[in-house]
Formats: sequence, C-alpha cells, structure tokens
Amino acid sequence: MNFVLHGAPVSAGISIGHAHLVSSARLEAAHYEIPASQVQAEILRFDAAIARARQELAALEGQMPDDAPSEFDAFINLHRMILADSSLSHEPRDIIRERRTNAEWALVQQMETLVGQFEEMEDPYLRERRQDIEQVVERVLKALQAGLRPGGGPAGEPSASAEQNMIVVAHDLSPADMILFKRHKFGAFVTDAGGVTSHTAIVARSLNIPALVGLHTARDMIRENDVLIVDGIQGVLVVDPDPLVLAEYKLRQSQHALERQKLKRLKATPSATLDGTPIELFANIELPQDMAEVKDSGAQGIGLFRTEFLFMNRDSLPTEDEQFESYREVAKAMEGKPVVIRTLDLGADKTVSEVDGGEMPNPALGLRAIRYCLAEPQLFLAQLRAILRASTHGKIRILLPMLAHAHEIEQSLQLLKQAKQQLEERKIAYDKSVEVGGMIEVPAAALALPMFMRHLDFLSIGTNDLIQYTLAIDRTDDKVAHLYDPLHPAVLHLIAHTIQAANRGGTPVAVCGEMAGDAALTRLLLGFGLRNFSMHPQQLLAIKERVLRTNLAEAHPLAQRVLRQSDPAKTRELLAKLNA
Ligand code: PEP
Ligand code: MG
Repeated sequence: MNFVLHGAPVSAGISIGHAHLVSSARLEAAHYEIPASQVQAEILRFDAAIARARQELAALEGQMPDDAPSEFDAFINLHRMILADSSLSHEPRDIIRERRTNAEWALVQQMETLVGQFEEMEDPYLRERRQDIEQVVERVLKALQAGLRPGGGPAGEPSASAEQNMIVVAHDLSPADMILFKRHKFGAFVTDAGGVTSHTAIVARSLNIPALVGLHTARDMIRENDVLIVDGIQGVLVVDPDPLVLAEYKLRQSQHALERQKLKRLKATPSATLDGTPIELFANIELPQDMAEVKDSGAQGIGLFRTEFLFMNRDSLPTEDEQFESYREVAKAMEGKPVVIRTLDLGADKTVSEVDGGEMPNPALGLRAIRYCLAEPQLFLAQLRAILRASTHGKIRILLPMLAHAHEIEQSLQLLKQAKQQLEERKIAYDKSVEVGGMIEVPAAALALPMFMRHLDFLSIGTNDLIQYTLAIDRTDDKVAHLYDPLHPAVLHLIAHTIQAANRGGTPVAVCGEMAGDAALTRLLLGFGLRNFSMHPQQLLAIKERVLRTNLAEAHPLAQRVLRQSDPAKTRELLAKLNA
C-alpha cells in the first residue's frame, strides 16, 4: 500500500531502501539466510543457546544468598517461565525452518511479536513485562554469540551494502541505543517518538544519515522489508512509492550528494565573514571514534565532548584510567587545537543503569548533570582527575553543564582544586592553566551572567536545554515538539543578551546547541555577535559556506531588528531577508 507520513527532519539527505523494524539496538540482530543444508544445525544452535540461558538462570538462583530480597527470586522465576514458554523457546525454530534465517533474527522477530501483544494489554503490570521478555531475549542472544555454530562455519553476515540499504524503523530509541548504531552503516533512521533536539536525535544526526523523528505511526503501519524513501530535508517518509516518485527522489538524492561533495572543497578555506572577521567553527563529539569525521570537517577545535556517552552501554562505570585514555586520544588527535570536555551530563533522557538516581518525578528538572556530579563527589573527582591528566596531551578546557547557582560554580571549582591536589600528591602532571567554563542552558544562568563571568573563563550556550527550560517543553516529547521554537522572542533575547554581555565583559562565548549547526540561523547568530560555533562535524562545512557569504555590516542591524520584533510572522520575514 502506497502512503506518506510526515515527521520532523533530524538529519538531512535522502535515503531509499527497505524497512527494518527494530525495538532496541541492544537487541538488534543481523539478518542472513541459512543454506537449506544448515537449517537443522541452526536449530540446534538455537536450542543450545536456550539451554545455556536456562543453566545461567538456574545458577543465578543457586547462588542467591539466603537474605536476598524475595523480589530477586520472583524475578528469576519469571525469567525461567518466559524462557520455558514455547512461544519463545519453540516458535523461533519454525521461523528458522520456514524462512531459512539465522537464529538471532528468528528470536528477535518472535520477540517483536510478543512485545507487541504485551504492549496492547490493559493491565500496566502485564504491559511492563515486555522488559522481562527483552531481558530474557538478550540473555539468549548473548548465549548465541558465545556459542559455536555446529555443523560448519559462519552461514554469512550481512554485507555493508546490505546494511546501507536498510532503513531502521523504531517506535522509540534511547540515546544509549542510538550510540550502538554507530557500529552499523544503515541507510536511514525513522522513529515514531522524539523531538528534534532529544539526545536520540542528536546522536542520529552524528551518524550522518537521513533521519526523521515524531512520525507517530510508522512502526505500526510499516512492514518489514517495505520499500521506503526517507526525505530528511522535507521531513517526509514515502512508503511503497510508485515508479515516478521513486525516479524523482533518486534524482534529488544525487543532487544532494553532489552538493555535499562540493562543500568538501571548503575544508581548508579559512573561516571568515566577507569583511574578514574570523569565525571559529568547532565540532561536537560523543565518543573518541567520532574524531575521523572531525578531521574530515576541518574543525578548528572540539567545542563539546559529551562525555556521558562514555558511560553508556556498559556493565560498569569507566574507570579514571579508561576515561583518561579517551580524553587523551581526543586531545592528541586535535594536535594542540582546543578540546572542550564537558563533565558528565547524565540524567533526563541520558540514563545509565549503574548510576540511576532512582525514579524521578521529572527527570529533566531533577538530579541531572552538575547536580548529580555534586551529589556524587567521588565520581566527579575521578572524572576531573582523568581530564586533568589528559590536559598535558593537548589544549583541554573543562566545561560544566547545567549551572544555575553560584554555589554550584564554587563547589565545582573547589572539587577541581581537590582533584589537582590529589594529582600533585600522586606526582602526576597536569596543565596548571586549564580553563574552566560554564554552560548557559538554564534561563536563570542567562539572566545572572555576571555571577558566571566572575568565576569562569568562558561560556558556552546550550540552546537545546535553554529552549526546553525557557519554554517549559520537554525536548524529548513529540507531543509538544511543535512548541519547541528557537525563534521565540524570549529565547532569542536570552541568547543575544548572553553573547553581548560576554563580548562586552571580554569572556569568550560559544553556542554548542543544535542552533549552531542550523545554516538558517547562522547569520542571525553572527548578527548577535557570536564568533564561535560548535556543531556536529558534518554540519560544519555548510555553516562555513554561510559564514563565507555573510556581510557582518548587513547582518548586525537586521539581527537587532529581529530582537525588537514580537510578532512571529515578522520575525520569520526578517529572517528570510537576513538569509537572502
Ligand atoms: C544543549 O543543551 O544545547 C547542549 C549542547 O547540551 P545537550 O544537548 O547535551 O543537553
Ligand atoms: Mg544541555
């Protein structure tokens, strides 16, 4: 059936491929065909993995101390029951046999069916049991990975080109899930839930493939293998297109690829406006492995290293040494260019099971970012020591997220002092002049700037959260995504005021939220006086192109007129003029 869905574009580009329905990257399984001669061996492999998972659960039960809470017992029993149920332990055998597919894929397909049935249940207790099913499946998947393939070698892996042809369709994905997808090379992503500046969307953008969020019904309406066109420019998803539409999109796809190719020529061009004012263009990263892209973009520095991603998808927290290795790797790769390392910004939509602060009534307003770090000084000190140790390998700066109170700045600086003393006691070198900056992402911070400028060496405006907290809308909630407006006069006032006050006071200021990577806003921000932008590496050359074609003498007065405007239609009119 041919139809079109509309969503919010998260990452530009056009991708044409086949739908691949997923519920979680953690449970993502490769799909490949099994030769007829190996089907029986594959079924045996599946049975062996089920048996192994059963043994593991029995062992867990046996090792349980006498004083263990009774919930543990109930939880293991429930998992054993799920595993024993024929819908999980037998049905995948039929899928393997009938569709000649690998065991992992068959298991995950069956899980999707079961999870779908549970999601429709009225009883919230039963609905939540989907998580138990997923956990049991994860255990069997691990057993499959650990086990040998009886009866021969690998039956085949999906090729890179097969993955490129796959379009991931999910109801929702967590940022931790999304980061796991960095290992794959899928063609595009679409999700039903999510706002454009949710961390899931931010990571999707860093994968540099077209992506849409907020499609609402895609996961229910699309079937595995449907032909899809993802238009990440217009926010359109075409399902089962007719040949004319397909031909049109193929043309647009090659035009877009050509434009991106042309931008590459700007890599070595110095970034400056038409009148010669230098503009610094920095990159945002989540993991050290993003450095290859940073290099390709010609970024002049790292403006935001979101270190919390180092803490995700692991069974234990990264040690000080592990963190040090990651920070050093990035610092060295940048060869003396600035690297702004943001301290842990966990909480809200970025959760890690080991450091979960428990259920929070409103996580975005709860124990997040610096609040969490100050509540867990040992964890914070370990990170500060790791960053300080890496500071001798490049030009590192420390950035503190979500500050609102003077005492948060003071306590953070006090802990930094303590981390330095600890290193001195251990006779470990660090850069004594390491600069410390603060994110301006809570309206209170933007309105109380002198307090920040007095204690900090630089500022970085996090527009994603600044918008969320100014307009009181959850950036991850697609139901209020239409209210998320970077051009709201209150938002623009806070941004312009921060830039102008910092410029007047001689405190370096950057924007590292998603607004910095939006070419439609580059001239506006330049007109406000911004001279340092930090964004995803693949947005950088498009922003540079904008900068190169901007005349500050024209942009400045128009940007000031935008600031005086309170009528949204007029604001958009002025912005169009600014961008003409
Ligand atoms: C921001 O809030 O704009 C920001 C850059 O931080 P994050 O997106 O990681 O919350
Ligand atoms: Mg933020």
